[in-house]
Amino acid sequence: MPLQLRRCASFVRGNLLTMLTVLGVASGTLLGWSLRATGAQWSRREVMYFQYPGELFLRMLKCLIVPLLVSSIVSAIGSLDLSLSGRVGLRAIVYYMTTTVCAVMLGIALVTTIKPGNDPGAFSAPNATRKLVTKETLTSDTLLDLIRNVFPENIAQATIATYRTRLVYDPNDPRQVQGHIETYEIKGDYQSGTNVLGLVCFSILLGITLGKMGERSRPLQAFFHTLSEAMMIITGWVIWLSPLGVFFLVTAKIMEIESFGELVGRLGMYFMTVLLGLFLHGFGTLSILFVLATKKLPCRYIAKMGQVMATAFGTASSSATMPITIGCCDEMGLDPRITRFVIPIGATINMDGTALYEAVAAIFIAQLRKVDMSFGKIVAVSVTATAASIGAAGIPQAGLVTMVMVLDTVNLPAEDVSIILAVDWLLDRFRTTINVVCDALGAIIVTSLSQGDIDKSRAAPTAADRDAAPATELAELEKGDR
Ligand code: ASP
Repeated sequence: MPLQLRRCASFVRGNLLTMLTVLGVASGTLLGWSLRATGAQWSRREVMYFQYPGELFLRMLKCLIVPLLVSSIVSAIGSLDLSLSGRVGLRAIVYYMTTTVCAVMLGIALVTTIKPGNDPGAFSAPNATRKLVTKETLTSDTLLDLIRNVFPENIAQATIATYRTRLVYDPNDPRQVQGHIETYEIKGDYQSGTNVLGLVCFSILLGITLGKMGERSRPLQAFFHTLSEAMMIITGWVIWLSPLGVFFLVTAKIMEIESFGELVGRLGMYFMTVLLGLFLHGFGTLSILFVLATKKLPCRYIAKMGQVMATAFGTASSSATMPITIGCCDEMGLDPRITRFVIPIGATINMDGTALYEAVAAIFIAQLRKVDMSFGKIVAVSVTATAASIGAAGIPQAGLVTMVMVLDTVNLPAEDVSIILAVDWLLDRFRTTINVVCDALGAIIVTSLSQGDIDKSRAAPTAADRDAAPATELAELEKGDR
């Protein structure tokens, strides 16, 4: 076989899954549009049937999240010595904060320069009157709930429920005024959905404790380590379903769109502003930070993230993509103790795409509503957009919910979220893609910055390191499975 053909064959073999997944997204998009082009009206049931295989894929990924998240963080922190995990954690937090603040500032710069909300065609009645999101709590309640969820009162409950404040109106209470939610009775409630933030914090604490306990903690460390590796092996199997999974998810989503006109028409400028911001952040800001921190070009690494990006785009969920992001980092040869520490935390709190979108959307709506944006208000939007991105869950369109908080800072009603609803499903996919790329690049940056410390810790292996040794063998095994 000629050399070039052999090279080509080995490239296809090495990247088959990525190519198939990207093909899944492209052909899903094409089929979705073709089915719409037939002019047939697809009922919700028909769309649900079409989405069904994709839904099964999503359920398999979601099922891995809790065991993988907890076991990865505990085993990663437990196997690093304390001062090293402190330094790695600090680097990761500095990276997350820097990139999120850069994303928000870029979003604000773009939306105030392009001014998509000043386009006279951008505001028309139908969507603005659709009341799908209503304001049920004050911004302070949302922020306090975020912190409450960091400290779950019952760790088992945290795997299935999240705490949420509810303001209840009682007509018999003379102190309450209808419509003034600040006078309502404050009640606490649990709603279904994993409290990922609480699990992350508890796992960090448990990891630190096991690291401190030394020899005595070995059985538990071995348990979490093995659990994490087992979850990654299952991920390696589930991953092969991603081309089909994303194909059905994307097709069904496109069949569902109400009006294509709205996408390119009324909200076109807003859509393009967010997209431009995400592109500049992903390929500009993050690349510059990457070069500065690692002295290497990011292209080679980003090229290896095709699988991660296609899955993020198809599922619109950074949490569901997390197992695949960890797998991708393993394949790039990063230290598993760093990736298993940095990626789950990143997937939970580091959402640059979401932060950028929250800032752009809030200011876009303010422009539509002709709200005067003083410097103080812009600063308030930046701060709440950052908090809203940290508080947003890694699930589809979670940003839309925390957006209420950002709108509140410019005194806009929660119902105004419905203005951008028509394009949100698609923007969500792009921002999720940036969210996960940022996490993966973060893992490379933190690994590179921590290399000296890692080498030192390797020179003096701890008990936990000896446990970690089989990880390499498992990684080989996993590669063989694929
Ligand atoms: N879907 C996004 C994610 O999972 C969150 C959002 O921006 O809505 O990362």
